[in-house]
Amino acid sequence: MKVFVTGGAGYIGSHTLVQLLAAGHDVCVFDNYCNSSPVALARVRQLTNRDVAMVEGDIRDADALTAALVDFAPDAVIHFAGLKAVGESNEKPLLYYQTNVTGSTNLLAAMDAANCRRIVFSSSATVYGEAQYLPFDEEHPIGPTNPYGRTKAMVEGIISDWARATPDASAVLLRYFNPVGAHESGRIGEDPQGIPNNLMPFVAQVAVGRRAKLSIFGDDYDTRDGTGERDYIHVVDLADAHLAALDYTGRAMGCEAINVGTGQGVTVSELVVAYRRASGRPIPLEIVPRRPGDVARSYAATAKAEKLLHWRAALDVDAMCASSWRWQSDNPQGYPMAGEV
Ligand code: NAD
Ligand code: UDP
Repeated sequence: MKVFVTGGAGYIGSHTLVQLLAAGHDVCVFDNYCNSSPVALARVRQLTNRDVAMVEGDIRDADALTAALVDFAPDAVIHFAGLKAVGESNEKPLLYYQTNVTGSTNLLAAMDAANCRRIVFSSSATVYGEAQYLPFDEEHPIGPTNPYGRTKAMVEGIISDWARATPDASAVLLRYFNPVGAHESGRIGEDPQGIPNNLMPFVAQVAVGRRAKLSIFGDDYDTRDGTGERDYIHVVDLADAHLAALDYTGRAMGCEAINVGTGQGVTVSELVVAYRRASGRPIPLEIVPRRPGDVARSYAATAKAEKLLHWRAALDVDAMCASSWRWQSDNPQGYPMAGEV
């Protein structure tokens, strides 16, 4: 199958490319590298011994996006491209709406022009907001609490409307929980710019000596040990969920929102212990006040993914930490300059 992958040079995109290419699909990446490196694609080519077509462009540029889609004529699209930092979305909301929402309407219009009817979209568990009950199932009310989350909820609605209005359309909205880890080779992984916002890349940078200590945001939550509990999902399992979702779009019409998580909550303290075990490094830490906006607990109901996609997570927290450590210790400063591989 021919798959057009927006944001394919990014963290989740690059891991998904490896699985797509290994499964024999042909891919074309559309990315402006605003949060990624061409080296990631070079390494994907190296890992898979396959070519990856690449168009450098911005999803806000409707003409460029349409030209690329019409030219490639894909059977399906996976839409990763977007901005994802919650804090930045509070400071620059219009940038988030333009990139995530307008970029997505541009993409759907370009798909219409290219006569492409199948899409898998990167949504997020953040669309649920504050838990009214746990685990979060797909029927849980939507109530995002920041501009980033609102862009995801809006795009879900737009894709759902598009699917209803478009004969033979099929869309899957994948609501990711907390993606972590790296490819087992350690050649591709998460390479955040600046100070990492998320727990796992921060822990990894402390382990490798780039940062002095981890600040744990609160130990007085209503959880097993007082630290925040999340559903971490190995990025390779997540990549496989995209292939399962693509298959699904080939056998069902309409639009479905589907959680992608393990169904298991892991606390910050538990994750640190697992990372110490995987890395053999001490990981100094301090307890600081809660981060505004954080919830105590978040984890997924996984029955819908199992039923519709025939997919479930296979990799545990130890595998997440071991692969993250391999990537971080082999690439302490992240990807090298473009041109090197
Ligand atoms: P990432 O930043 O590594 O990848 C996003 C890619 O999109 C990057 O390569 C970036 O250069 C590209 N991009 C951004 N704006 C673009 C634009 N205007 N035009 C073209 N390309 C553009 O992020 P990721 O972690 O791989 O996330 C992928 C998707 O999954 C995003 O939509 C994100 O919101 C969503 N998501 C991520 C997480 C997470 O924790 N990583 C959780 C839930 C949902
Ligand atoms: N966290 C932390 N220190 C950090 C980053 C995160 O203690 O430097 C905690 C955070 O409070 C939450 C968990 O780790 O309980 C996961 O945070 P992350 O930002 O990775 O994911 P999200 O909160 O968006 O689910």
